[in-house]
Amino acid sequence: MTKKTDIDQLKQDNAQYLFHPMAHPAAMQKNRPDIISRGEGCWVWDIDGHKMIDGVAGLWSSNLGHSNKRVRDAIVAQLDELPFYNTFRGTTHPRAIELSARIVKTMAPDGVGAVLFGNGGSDAVEGALKIARQYWKVQGQPERTKFISLRQGYHGVHFGGMSVNGLGNIRRAYEPLMPGCFHVDTPWPYHNAYSEDPEELARICAGLLEREIQFQGADTVAAFIAEPIQGSAGVIVPPTSYWPLVREVCDRNNVLLIADEVVTGFGRSGAMFGTRLWGVKADIWCLAKGISSGYVPLGATALGKKVSEAFLADANGLATVAHGYTYSGHPVAAAAALATLDEIEEKDVVGNAARVGAHFQQRLAEFERRFSFVGDVRGKGLMAGIEMVSDKARRVPVPRNSDIPQRVAREAYRRGAMVRISGPNMILSPPLVMTREEVDHLVDILEASFAAVQATL
Ligand code: PMP
Repeated sequence: MTKKTDIDQLKQDNAQYLFHPMAHPAAMQKNRPDIISRGEGCWVWDIDGHKMIDGVAGLWSSNLGHSNKRVRDAIVAQLDELPFYNTFRGTTHPRAIELSARIVKTMAPDGVGAVLFGNGGSDAVEGALKIARQYWKVQGQPERTKFISLRQGYHGVHFGGMSVNGLGNIRRAYEPLMPGCFHVDTPWPYHNAYSEDPEELARICAGLLEREIQFQGADTVAAFIAEPIQGSAGVIVPPTSYWPLVREVCDRNNVLLIADEVVTGFGRSGAMFGTRLWGVKADIWCLAKGISSGYVPLGATALGKKVSEAFLADANGLATVAHGYTYSGHPVAAAAALATLDEIEEKDVVGNAARVGAHFQQRLAEFERRFSFVGDVRGKGLMAGIEMVSDKARRVPVPRNSDIPQRVAREAYRRGAMVRISGPNMILSPPLVMTREEVDHLVDILEASFAAVQATL
């Protein structure tokens, strides 16, 4: 337990010395972030000893909760055996090899043939974009360099990922971004200019993708990248037919399909992978977060056989992977991931996410009817977004400077639930091992928090 004076010092030092992702440093002085100092199962404690149910699993990542003994023991054993060695040409180590084989086996139904490692989601995306471009060079089509992606998409913060991301607010400060990246409209049922009928919307948006590919010249496009469900934008679930239609568009135009499964991978939506939810095989997958249950940073780029076999078959010296990090396949992270995959399989974590997730979605859906400022509740499995609106009939989200979303979050915090706000959305992504009772506890708190704010409007 940290002493009171130390706590004050920590809070002061945090405001002074630590620049936080996606925050203005000066704002951290006034609105000090919560210091989370302990976790157990689906629960966390802040440094003042306040206990909360974790509605965000760290950040879509602690899918096995915070005190999984098997993952912890695997990490400790690996630290004793070999804390680090590299996997650059010439050396490797058992855990990285075992994890690559395990991912390929797990993703055999998806057609995966090989994997490369990084340290998180942004790395996984960067690996995917670079391998996609290189694939076309290996294939003798070096002009295929462009990327198309979705508005509202989030693909991490490296220059490549940032360039394909479709959230304007995280692009501006770092422009100019990578040339050759183009965006098309997301099939967003709640906000779109096209159709109230989801399947018609899917057809229109898949058509927009095809038109953009043809406008650019299909022979100049390397890949289309998208999240199976857009997480950071507020959990935008596409209509059921969108991904199958996208697969057809990519096939017709010989464009690679990259699935950014950093959030949806390993069970979040109630399916092992988001692409499986839509019955689609991608060509490249970006994986992170749940792969190691967030215990140690890890990212992976999984390559479908079409890609991996082309690299293996290259006889022209074009397929050397001139990409990778000191910590690619870090043994401690790989050990954590192997133990995580054991847990996911043996404890039917994905089945739990589907079952408990269905209950979660059902209960949250009632908020739309109950609260005048809740415009849309959307989600799948154990990921959900609750969009707050200033005009429900016209679907106008609360303005950027509205304090309403933060007020709901503070009410929840006070009552013992950790949630996350992004723009007008509350984003929920609890651990995938959460029980039905814990979900009810979380939703009860949310209900009371929305009600408390509604009473002040
Ligand atoms: N892709 C997606 C879909 C993500 O949601 C995220 C992070 N939330 C990333 C990539 C980037 O991952 P990281 O923050 O681990 O770099």
